[in-house]
Amino acid sequence: MNPIHTLPNYINGQWCASSAREHLDVINPATAEVLARVPLSTANEVNQAAQAASEAFTNWRRTPPTERVQYLFKLKNLLEEHFEDLARTITTECGKTLAESKGEMRRAIENVEVACGIPIMMQGTNLEDVARGIDEMMIRQPLGVAAVIGPFNFPGMIPFWFLPYALACGNTYIVKPSEKVPLTMQKVFELFEKTGLPKGVVNLVNGAKEAVDAILDHPKIRAISFVGSTPVAKYIYSRAATNGKRVQCQGGAKNPLIVLPDADMEMTTRIAADSAFGCAGQRCLAASLAVTVGKAGETFTEAIAETAKKRIVGNGLDPDVEMGPVITAQSKARIEQLVQQGADEGAKLLVDGRSPKISGYEQGYFIQPTILQNVEPTGEIARTEIFGPVLSLIHLNTIEEAIALINSGQYGNMACLFTTSGAAARKFRYEAEAGNIGINIGVAAPMAFFPFSGWKESFFGDLHGQSNHAVEFFTQTKVVVERWPSEWSRQF
Ligand code: NAD
Repeated sequence: MNPIHTLPNYINGQWCASSAREHLDVINPATAEVLARVPLSTANEVNQAAQAASEAFTNWRRTPPTERVQYLFKLKNLLEEHFEDLARTITTECGKTLAESKGEMRRAIENVEVACGIPIMMQGTNLEDVARGIDEMMIRQPLGVAAVIGPFNFPGMIPFWFLPYALACGNTYIVKPSEKVPLTMQKVFELFEKTGLPKGVVNLVNGAKEAVDAILDHPKIRAISFVGSTPVAKYIYSRAATNGKRVQCQGGAKNPLIVLPDADMEMTTRIAADSAFGCAGQRCLAASLAVTVGKAGETFTEAIAETAKKRIVGNGLDPDVEMGPVITAQSKARIEQLVQQGADEGAKLLVDGRSPKISGYEQGYFIQPTILQNVEPTGEIARTEIFGPVLSLIHLNTIEEAIALINSGQYGNMACLFTTSGAAARKFRYEAEAGNIGINIGVAAPMAFFPFSGWKESFFGDLHGQSNHAVEFFTQTKVVVERWPSEWSRQF
């Protein structure tokens, strides 16, 4: 057996051993096998990364955008070349199926492609003769050093909602991946190394709270993008903003699907099951509540229960598997405890997927799809983010009641409607309080050329990830007012 490898950081163009005193095991959730040890890097290591990034900024911001994107073109090609390996790494450390990991990497690459358009996206505006002989222009300049703090559930994609835009705009960067899934970024940084990017332009610091706090407090770090749970998002938003940084924090979710009686039930069931149980329910856009309206109740309930029971659960590397494990033993225990709480609150356990026996993977953190029926709309289980393959069913009489239920929730990441009525779809799109709306779509994840984020306690900040929002986030505007009196040109 190979000895367990301790992961290095990547600072100033060098792979370097961390001086951390503490380490955590990186665990394959399908097998409970220890894959590596991740260092919980110290504030001093964050400082080294911030210093390196700050020094690199001087030249990087002066590198023309057309040259900067050449590195992104190289990166895109390398990501394509290593696509399979990256997807396998995601599955191995995060548990999702290989098809899901490939989907994740595809979206990561799409963001690199969009950021390659920076010479156009970063352009400012100007107006001649705002007064006689006076011109005014707005230009965009990079901020300096920026950082991302990532969650466990999309180790490959989420840093790419921000990083390619930050670099393309002329910033330098620090990535702090989730300590639960640090292996994918190790591979991505091996590819960064091959692009020949100048040293210090991108840096990787592994770790947890100590490293995060050092990022939040470091005077040279100007902007922070965070994706994770709402309590941590709130903490990061307030501490970083108090330190004068630009911050965007994406938080948790409790995503509802509404099923109207006129919906195409076969399609709705298939899509709802993918939304609720895909990635083992560990997607920020996973359906967690299904609200049936009127006669939809009976047909949808029966069909979704059948679909849930048929889902093949196992190691995501197995091509037949449709759903992998949840991320940790603690997460599995928490989800199962919440399911019990739902039952104790009076819901019916229509499909109970707790503690399945998955042959050959007895140590893995598996939960089979689980459905709670007749969930109390104001109860804890209808409000708390479960982040596992658990769907709660609520039955209401009208679309108005369903929209009111959605809008009374704490979160606003996504809301979806299933219907064949254009009028109902328009009403829903207009009234539902969420940053992402799906109409006959179960995971309304915008493509890279649209901004991505939620509302309410699913997001703290204003500019979102991806697209022109990311360009605005990673630049500051400067307005120049120039006077060139026409009489001065007479001398030429
Ligand atoms: P998490 O909040 O536990 O951790 C996210 C990051 O914060 C990690 O890098 C971690 O090291 C750091 N962190 C954790 N606790 C901290 C603390 N006390 N102080 C400083 N840093 C801390 O989230 P997670 O469990 O990795 O991810 C799952 C959560 O992320 C879910 O709530 C999910 O909804 C959310 N999420 C949201 C989106 C979105 O776009 N809104 C996308 C993906 C995931």
